[in-house]
Amino acid sequence: MVAGYSEIAKDMQALKAHPNIDDYESQRENWNWDSIWAELDTPNGLINQAHECIDRHALGERAEKLAMIWQSASGEIENYTYADMKRETDKVANAFRSAGIEKADRVFFLSDRIPELYFGVFGALKLGAIAAPLFSAFGPEPIKERVQRAEGKVIVTTPKLLAKVNAVRDELPSLETVIVIDHREGTEVDDRDVAWSAIVPNASEEFTIEQTGAEDWSIMHFTSGTTGLPKGAAHVHNTVVSHYATGKYVLDFHDDDIYWCTADPGWVTGTSYGMFAPWSNGITQVIDEGGYSARRWYETITKHQVTVWYTAPTAIRLLMKAGTDVARSHDLSSLRYVMSVGEPLNPEGVVWGLEAFDLAIHDNWWQTETGAIMIANYPVMPIRPGSMGRPFPGIHAAIIDDEGNELTTPMIEGQLAVKPGWPSMFRTYWNDQERYDSRFKNGWYLTGDKAKRDEDGYFWFVGRDDDVINTAGHLVSPFEVESALIEHEAVAEAGVIGKPDDVAMEIVKAFVTLNDGFANTRELLRSLNNHCRTRLGPAVAPREIDVIDILPKTRSGKIMRRLLKARELGLPEGDTSTLEED
Ligand code: AMP
Repeated sequence: MVAGYSEIAKDMQALKAHPNIDDYESQRENWNWDSIWAELDTPNGLINQAHECIDRHALGERAEKLAMIWQSASGEIENYTYADMKRETDKVANAFRSAGIEKADRVFFLSDRIPELYFGVFGALKLGAIAAPLFSAFGPEPIKERVQRAEGKVIVTTPKLLAKVNAVRDELPSLETVIVIDHREGTEVDDRDVAWSAIVPNASEEFTIEQTGAEDWSIMHFTSGTTGLPKGAAHVHNTVVSHYATGKYVLDFHDDDIYWCTADPGWVTGTSYGMFAPWSNGITQVIDEGGYSARRWYETITKHQVTVWYTAPTAIRLLMKAGTDVARSHDLSSLRYVMSVGEPLNPEGVVWGLEAFDLAIHDNWWQTETGAIMIANYPVMPIRPGSMGRPFPGIHAAIIDDEGNELTTPMIEGQLAVKPGWPSMFRTYWNDQERYDSRFKNGWYLTGDKAKRDEDGYFWFVGRDDDVINTAGHLVSPFEVESALIEHEAVAEAGVIGKPDDVAMEIVKAFVTLNDGFANTRELLRSLNNHCRTRLGPAVAPREIDVIDILPKTRSGKIMRRLLKARELGLPEGDTSTLEED
């Protein structure tokens, strides 16, 4: 238990609905993935994420139920029922087919959260193509690297973001087609591109979903490593079994819920829990195009009467900073369940939920590769603030040592590992099977996180087992940032670390050495900052850049990020015990 925060008992969690998981122990003991599969609609053993999320509801009793309440950045509302979603996604699937997209093609999406992004992803899934949504705040460099790695054939984007694609398009030999969602911005589309308005509105409203099996590819998200470029974690249609199950038992969806997930689909939470979990459960969800502001968020909850809310620690810390008064000045009484993911949620954050919403915030843990929630706090269980909770029923998580042996003594630190075999486990890193294989040892999937487990089976996050930076819940590869920095004519070498931050958990901080003839001036720093923001985009660019004389290196010439971090934090350089492994 973290000093100062006692357990939050079940009866203090102010449950406003009978939880779907009502006895964790027995559900865990009797768990059977086959019975979850049986709750879905899988004719002849075929499964398609778009069918589970859209068509089966549209063709059944939920046809006229709202699937998506979309709120634009400027506050207009558009409502789409499940029947509307089927029609729109059928049209897109037909339009995409006419644009030459085929099964297993990689279709990238670079778009803000507009309805067409959602129609597009499901249209691609209906065709059996692989949907790969990118974060719209990426600059040209991260876009290029990801499309290159997956040999993307198509990019679907908007006029506003097109310039970033154009900046790297000559370096993308696999890219055949750029589809521009033009009608909202009313822009002319260049002849070499395909206008959404030219192919979608007149497309047929009937589409027969491509026959996909459990192991057919569906979606790809990119995740950052320490040494190489981003890896494309590829998932299959079977993933939706985990989305459906965790939506039901962790997000505790009830048929009348109005759900809001604040994550962007460029990040796995924005698809697994911003598309697949709610819609496979037939839930109504709010999608907000706008960015964070405490008032906007609270008004969104009030306006749409949100009941279940899934957000992230950085946002919670910002809301805490804005003050409990701001929360209390809105009527947030519709809320019944609040969850968080992406970074450790401080015990203060869990407890603040009680002050602000009369609801404890339920933390849970998972990652791109796991595809769905692995460890969670459930409404039927006391919360231990600061703990990620206990494994999802059907998931076997453990703490293991370097040889892959399970450590059963409570509160021993080791690597967090999961027994392979759950439905949403990633199936490869695209074009990098070797790296995929390296994530498994002695019958375990290695998560790359360090953690401890207490005597009652609650897991406690300790830190990453590598140099990957977690900034506001987004993993950033130091290597990717270093590579962009050394492209600047003034930079000889670069070392990048995560510097602890009160709000974002970590910020990206770079150390550079300069080539002869360049001096450490204010103009140079400005030029470095501009270079990084243009190449990498604001989500990845370093927030701080220091010019130093020498970068610490190992004998083999590897930059010692650990030492840079020790210096930055004022820790003894010889003492690396509290630092990440390299
Ligand atoms: P991503 O693959 O981008 O979703 O990032 C996954 C990583 O974020 C995990 O491996 C953890 O390092 C971190 N993470 C996610 N959720 C939590 C959590 N609840 N507590 C602590 N760290 C988390």
